[in-house]
Amino acid sequence: MAECPGVTLIPIGGVDPIILQWLKEDIPKILSLPVTESHPLPLFSHAFRRDRNQYLADDLLANLSPIIHDKNTLSLGITDADIYTAGLNFVFGIAATGRALISTFRLRPEAYGMPPNPRVYRWRVLTEAVHECGHALGLPHCEHPGCVMFFSNSIADTDRKGPEFCFRCRRRIEWVKMGNRTDFHSSFQ
Ligand SMILES: [Zn+2]
Ligand SMILES: [Zn+2]
Repeated sequence: MAECPGVTLIPIGGVDPIILQWLKEDIPKILSLPVTESHPLPLFSHAFRRDRNQYLADDLLANLSPIIHDKNTLSLGITDADIYTAGLNFVFGIAATGRALISTFRLRPEAYGMPPNPRVYRWRVLTEAVHECGHALGLPHCEHPGCVMFFSNSIADTDRKGPEFCFRCRRRIEWVKMGNRTDFHSSFQ
């Protein structure tokens, strides 16, 4: 199988350009993959659930596939909307093989009554982006709380783990980047 040549950022709805700039600068430092930006997609109204005032993450993720995805490109959607998936009140992101989605809605310090802090915000955006990209490349969750592939149940989990892979997951990611894509599971949060 061909090597994965890079990550394509896809803004969904209105996304602050600084977020895209951060990801373009930061993702290559962790994943050693080039990052490009694609045309924005609309925030599809069919994904909105009025009773929850949230968007169904799976519906937004599904829209990334037929339009952008090809087998050699990892698509990373970014939305400012609050997203959820079945069985969870919210998710920071979701992924399936070859495509990933993150929401910035619950990553801002202001979402927790804290003052704005671009450094913390940037760290969280990168952490969640790398986590979902890891899934999109086939990595499962990791039980090491300091590894980016640890499941974030709350923002405290995200802040603790940060964007770096543990030794074992780092080896796995290098393995799949060499073209040995491994589909451990089909979808993740
Ligand atoms: Zn790990
Ligand atoms: Zn996950």
